[in-house]
Amino acid sequence: MSEKVSEKVSKPEDQAKSAIVTGSTSGIGLGVAEALARAGMNVTLNGFGDAGEIEAIRARIARDTGVEVRYDGADMTKPEAIRRLVEGAEEAFGSVDVLVNNAGIQHVSPLEEFPEAKWDAIIAINLSSVFHATKAAFGGMKARGFGRIINIASAHGLVASPFKSAYVSAKHGVVGFTKTIALEGAEHGVTCNAICPGYVKTPLVEKQIPDTAKARGMTEEEVVQKVILAAQPTKEFVTVEQIGALAVFLCSDDAASITGAALQVDGGWVAQ
Ligand code: NAD
Repeated sequence: MSEKVSEKVSKPEDQAKSAIVTGSTSGIGLGVAEALARAGMNVTLNGFGDAGEIEAIRARIARDTGVEVRYDGADMTKPEAIRRLVEGAEEAFGSVDVLVNNAGIQHVSPLEEFPEAKWDAIIAINLSSVFHATKAAFGGMKARGFGRIINIASAHGLVASPFKSAYVSAKHGVVGFTKTIALEGAEHGVTCNAICPGYVKTPLVEKQIPDTAKARGMTEEEVVQKVILAAQPTKEFVTVEQIGALAVFLCSDDAASITGAALQVDGGWVAQ
């Protein structure tokens, strides 16, 4: 047995894996957290929202799946809180085997009017938090010889749209970070991949429809038909369940050779 292998802190085979999903009180993150819980992983939820609603979500997932589900309200703009999020999950569940960097926000406006504060917030939440969380979880994954890092990027990690300068910049950054960490984890059983969804009908998308209508001089219905669904050859929204199913597969042993990939789940958007 090589020194590297003997140093690994192995987890008993029958012990459930532990996953953190950032931004999982809503939308894609919630769907991914539910899918991982159904696959038998203990889950740490994170994100903002009404305390009572979050507790109801936590309790429902735990009841429906039989796994342990905890919640940590760490603000993804705060590096120290992100480190504590990872440490808290390690203490509660013994490890962080799966990290899904999902938390994200959007702002739509022409560059000349783009607020500096929105630029800073989008870079912090959509890009820098991915660095801070991954950095905090990476050492433990390497030591145990297993890890799955899944970054929820976007089709906008691969192509651009006007009026989304900060978001497109952050998501392209996430795809670059994903490739780098894939190389650093490759000999340690740690994979790192980006999922690049097209449009998924979540609060993040619903909130940007009025701003996009204003920026493009369209009605909101025109935005849905001519901007959102027009981008996707399938003319259908992607679903959170489709993203969750891919995340579960990426966590499997069968996905051990998939690393450094930017996997499009976008109804053919970036193929055009
Ligand atoms: P959403 O608004 O439904 O959920 C965002 C989640 O992030 C929520 O749980 C929210 O509380 C959390 N969050 C926001 N700011 C936070 C902060 N500072 N700290 C901690 N949590 C915070 O949005 P969504 O559509 O589910 O988006 C999830 C991810 O998927 C984002 O990274 C987004 O860019 C990406 N994405 C979404 C779409 C889409 O069409 N909806 C497409 C491609 C990529």
